[in-house]
Amino acid sequence: MALQILLNGAKGRMGQTIARLAGETGFIIRAGLDVGDDLAAHIARCDVIIDFSSHQATAKVLEVAAAHQKAVVIGTTGHAADEKKHLLALAAQVPCVWAGNYSVGVNLLYALTQRAARVLGSDYDAEVIEMHHRFKKDAPSGTAARLLEIILEERKLGADALRHGRSGITGERQPTEVGVHALRGGDVVGEHTVMFAGLGERLELTHKATDRAIFARGALRAAAWVASQQPGVYDMQDVLGLK
Ligand code: NAD
Repeated sequence: MALQILLNGAKGRMGQTIARLAGETGFIIRAGLDVGDDLAAHIARCDVIIDFSSHQATAKVLEVAAAHQKAVVIGTTGHAADEKKHLLALAAQVPCVWAGNYSVGVNLLYALTQRAARVLGSDYDAEVIEMHHRFKKDAPSGTAARLLEIILEERKLGADALRHGRSGITGERQPTEVGVHALRGGDVVGEHTVMFAGLGERLELTHKATDRAIFARGALRAAAWVASQQPGVYDMQDVLGLK
């Protein structure tokens, strides 16, 4: 039977994209809710909550999910670190996928980056380059930050290894450096390249997003997967079997 979804943030850009793709891919949006709507009144007839609303809504979403033992997909971002700690404890009471980026391609890029960093080692200089539209307010992007975290973890380096751009007399590049470069311009949806440059060869892993529908497709894939899981907090690496 088709999965019955409660979509929170249904009037937003992501909500509308998810609703459109759900119809095309055999999911049923049983309830499309937004600001001011009562989640508890609609949850009983749904299998999974997909939330792409506001970080202020997450606690309520998780409380309702826990009270009714329903699975959840959290797509909303922007939670403060201490806020997220409390929310994760709540999320663990039900099957919950929580990912900052639902793109299948980006999640595969994370796994490939980890593998490349492990195989290539510090003989290969690692640099991360990202480009986004001119309206983006933060840098580097959350996705670039995750890629850097993966490289730092593999190389057992701290955040002080990061070099955000270079300018002036920087001296020779040190093997312990990891470069980060944020380009901004036009209407670029999101591009990330992880470069491993050795002596005599260079490996570049690049992902280019052209349409936010990739996040909606990934979130629906996560919803289908999480509906049959045990309680616990999962990410897209779990959904895609990349762990
Ligand atoms: P948006 O502003 O277009 O839509 C948000 C919607 O949520 C609006 O309709 C708003 O009225 C509604 N909303 C706000 N507070 C609410 C509440 N308390 N209860 C119910 N509905 C509420 O934003 P968007 O671009 O659709 O993004 C939504 C969220 O998803 C953001 O946090 C964004 O960063 C995140 N996002 C995550 C991914 C990912 O892959 N994880 C991808 C894209 C966007």
